[in-house]
Amino acid sequence: MRRTHALLVSCFFFSLVAAGQVPTRIAIRAGRLIDGKSEKPLENVLIQVEGDKVVSVTSGGTAPAGVQVIDLGNATVLPGFIDTHTHILLHGDTTREEYADQLLKESIPFRAILAARNAQLALSHGFTGMRDLETEGAMYADVDVKKAIANGEVPGPRLQVATRAMTPTGMYPPFGYSWELKMPTGVQYVDGVDGARIAVREQVSHGADWIKYYSDGRVDFDADGRLHSEVLFTDEEAKAIVEEAHRLRKKVAAHAVGSDGIAAALRAGVDTIEHGDGLTDSLMDEMVRRGVYWVPTITVGAYVAPGRGGNWPKMADLERDNFGKALKHGVKIALGTDAGGFDWKVLNQAKEFEYYAQYGMTPMQAIRSGTSVAAELLGWSDKAGTIEAGKWADLVAVSGDPLRDITELQRVKFVMKNGAVFKNELH
Ligand SMILES: [Zn+2]
Repeated sequence: MRRTHALLVSCFFFSLVAAGQVPTRIAIRAGRLIDGKSEKPLENVLIQVEGDKVVSVTSGGTAPAGVQVIDLGNATVLPGFIDTHTHILLHGDTTREEYADQLLKESIPFRAILAARNAQLALSHGFTGMRDLETEGAMYADVDVKKAIANGEVPGPRLQVATRAMTPTGMYPPFGYSWELKMPTGVQYVDGVDGARIAVREQVSHGADWIKYYSDGRVDFDADGRLHSEVLFTDEEAKAIVEEAHRLRKKVAAHAVGSDGIAAALRAGVDTIEHGDGLTDSLMDEMVRRGVYWVPTITVGAYVAPGRGGNWPKMADLERDNFGKALKHGVKIALGTDAGGFDWKVLNQAKEFEYYAQYGMTPMQAIRSGTSVAAELLGWSDKAGTIEAGKWADLVAVSGDPLRDITELQRVKFVMKNGAVFKNELH
């Protein structure tokens, strides 16, 4: 078995040599490896990379002669991080004014330039993959940023993008401007079953990997502490969005904060619940039954709660309680931060790992939520999320032990994406 594999690898290698494209071979010596799937870290491991892929991971081992060796012998190596909820075209959204300023005073080209900067920041923090969940008024600029990164024009994580997101007419900011003005909108307004199908087709034709819609809007606590919400689409409309997306082999993310919005999104058949503060025991069971992921975005909640006031601080507390319950129920939790809802320059999105550990995950569970579980959500299980032969060579290193101190993940010192070293502060 192993011999056959080796033969295949060398055939591949020599065919590339014949074509004049010799893939770069690099060996990485890892003092400690958290590979994204093993229960415990592995000590003293040699990871060999050829071109953009990991070709072998061996305990001990010596690097073949002539191969460049990167010594991370005093560090912990992990799979590149994946954030499943970001907004690269946004830079802070604590107040309505902050949001409106970006839509009304910044051109889409300007925002796209900042998005390229944000992507670079994310990569430098160890995020080699992201699902960017709507452009907030910047139309299809996420498709362009994704393309520029994929073509190697600018550095950044691999992206899956959702383009414009959807709400019914009039249900998304900017709000409160004179009716005489033709205002830009943060999302695409979509009405009726036919309108829903057309919007999905339009977004997919322009490059959407995911469809995102807003299941709910305004939220309110009732007397017994349950977080209710105003559901935005009719069931028929929401089902049409999901059905059409699935028919075109795209998955659907629903913004759903209150229990009513979460229930409506689950009835419609979505694949991921975003935020989900108002989860209840029965909704958690339903998510487990349907295999739906929860993307909690705790970092943004904690960051905007003091500035927004109102129900926000209480919602952050509720989400903390629900996090522990969801773990017990066995809900699949994928790391997502809502970066862009907070300024990329101010907060490192890896802070989310710290919250998950504080809220009840073991450090290893927290790491998996932002590596292998996130990769599974993106449909990349065979390509990313763990460090093993055949996967993309996307890996990071920290100098301490993140199993003892999860905040180490906010101090990434080494980043390799696609087999190329982007950052190395450990040499
Ligand atoms: Zn968001």
